Amino acid sequence: MNPPPNRQSALQAITAAPLDLLIIGGGIVGAGIARDAAMRGLRTGLVEQHDFAFGTSSRSSRLLHGGLRYLAQGRIGLVHEASVEKKIIHHIAPHLADPLPFIFPTYCGNRDWILWQLKIGVKIYDLLCSGRNLGKSTWLTQAEVLRAVPGLNAAGLKGAVRYYDGFTNDARLAIDTLRSAARSGAAVLNYCRFTGAARTAAPSSGAGVPPVHSVSGAGVSPVQSVSGAGVPPVHSVSGAGVSPVHSVSGAGVPPVHWQCEIEDHLAAKTFHVHARAVVNATGPWADGLPHSRVKLRLTKGIHLVLNKTRLPVTDTVVMTEGKRILFAIPWGQRTILGTTDTDYNGPLDDVRADAADIDYVLQIANQFFPTAKLTVPDVISVWAGLRPLVADPSGKPSDISRAHEIHNPEPGWWDVAGGKLTTYRLMAEQTVDRLVKAGGRASSHAHPAQCRTAEEPLLPSSETTGLSGILPPEFTRRTVEHYVTNEWAVHLDDVMVRRTSWHYYCPDAAAKAQQVADWMAELLNWAEPQRAAELARYSALASCLPGRKP
Ligand SMILES: Cc1cc2nc3c(=O)[nH]c(=O)nc-3n(C[C@H](O)[C@H](O)[C@H](O)COP(=O)(O)OP(=O)(O)OC[C@H]3O[C@@H](n4cnc5c(N)ncnc54)[C@H](O)[C@@H]3O)c2cc1C
Repeated sequence: MNPPPNRQSALQAITAAPLDLLIIGGGIVGAGIARDAAMRGLRTGLVEQHDFAFGTSSRSSRLLHGGLRYLAQGRIGLVHEASVEKKIIHHIAPHLADPLPFIFPTYCGNRDWILWQLKIGVKIYDLLCSGRNLGKSTWLTQAEVLRAVPGLNAAGLKGAVRYYDGFTNDARLAIDTLRSAARSGAAVLNYCRFTGAARTAAPSSGAGVPPVHSVSGAGVSPVQSVSGAGVPPVHSVSGAGVSPVHSVSGAGVPPVHWQCEIEDHLAAKTFHVHARAVVNATGPWADGLPHSRVKLRLTKGIHLVLNKTRLPVTDTVVMTEGKRILFAIPWGQRTILGTTDTDYNGPLDDVRADAADIDYVLQIANQFFPTAKLTVPDVISVWAGLRPLVADPSGKPSDISRAHEIHNPEPGWWDVAGGKLTTYRLMAEQTVDRLVKAGGRASSHAHPAQCRTAEEPLLPSSETTGLSGILPPEFTRRTVEHYVTNEWAVHLDDVMVRRTSWHYYCPDAAAKAQQVADWMAELLNWAEPQRAAELARYSALASCLPGRKP
């Protein structure tokens, strides 16, 4: 493996001197925190165990939304917060935030979604954006709905509301946020796994640091990486219950120092990072980290990609099943169908859609579009992801709050959990605010700057045009070279899945993967066995898709 040149400098930066903060997790939340902290002048590092956006942040519905569903649940504060954020993302990343009209049809006898209530609801929804929504909501008669959505089930149709949210590309949003963070000085590393950390009361002089306790459940015993003779070990926190944020006021509180152990999966070696604060931003993995006090309830959601010719929607169509809502979302020459919401206890690193998930989504779509007669062979690709919901053991998964929580269970350790893609920037701002407040001593900087992430564009348009957008980029060697050189892509699936979405969008993705493997082999000096291994790794991923031969 020949890592890209900037990896070496990031490794150097992250290990050279103690960081103000080390972020664990390179999904959208970790990326947002890294950008915010680096823009405020904090010495910032981030490690991601797989590729950036490998987790939930490449497996969402890709909507920037306040959440009309949450409005129906009376969660006005949550909707307001997310509605403002969707407009901020539209402002800071216009290449990744298209206004998206939604048509929400209602039917006779449906007591869960009543037309007059929706008519009021969408007007309130517009108001909750603190100014103009991305488009103005309207109402449609039955005839207007059928003209706007050909093929929609007409039996019992009463009418519809049309309202606006935003459409994004989740993985691109995370990666461009990381590019922005790196431009502000953050050192970010993919394929680097945090395995444990020890806290000391004072900056390490090399001795007296307690043993590092490793990630639970990984079957690894505590790593005796430093001498630490005679010093009692710092025990990882298990236990239930999340303690509230406690503001460590600096004065009178001894400075803390974390020694974190990181496994570099590309170099097959372990290194240590020293930091004044550690942020656990690991989404669905958050309750498995030592020191974490997070309690999660994970639910799985899947999406199917079809050819647009099979379900030609131009506005997103809202489909309901009881109180649940599903979407048929237009995506260039494709239509995305989703999603499900079921409790999940399987492996976190290999989340797949099963036949029942796929049948459920197709069945609902066929109810709403009976003449489409969609079947499994219509499915071009599938993705499945986990919602990292803050635990509420009772109630239906779809009723659990999507609110986020930030906790500081021990000095210098921060757990950030829950939330949505849409609210990532706010979560980051609040996390860094608290971290800065918790210590004049939590930062090497005397006066960290104010948060500027809502005003400053993620990247100049010259760095995104043709390379980053809602639709996949042009299929050229030049674009692949850019991802390898400037966006930390080291594996074939990094390019096929998260940098470009070619894997999801292109029916001939397997053939495209062969070509990309050839280009990457030239760019990264892969010998033939490595090229073959990359294709095998990609095929293993693609083999879980119905209707597609790897
Ligand atoms: C089906 C579905 C649909 C959704 N749709 C929407 C939507 O339309 N709009 C919206 O706003 N939100 C949506 N969401 C929610 C949104 O996608 C998530 O809230 C968000 O992506 C979570 O980001 P994250 O950074 O917390 O987690 P992740 O993206 O999962 O990132 C966590 C990262 O931490 C890494 N990690 C874990 N352990 C370690 C370790 N030990 N060392 C290093 N790295 C580690 C993981 O590999 C992972 O990449 C949806 C979620 C799902 C599941």
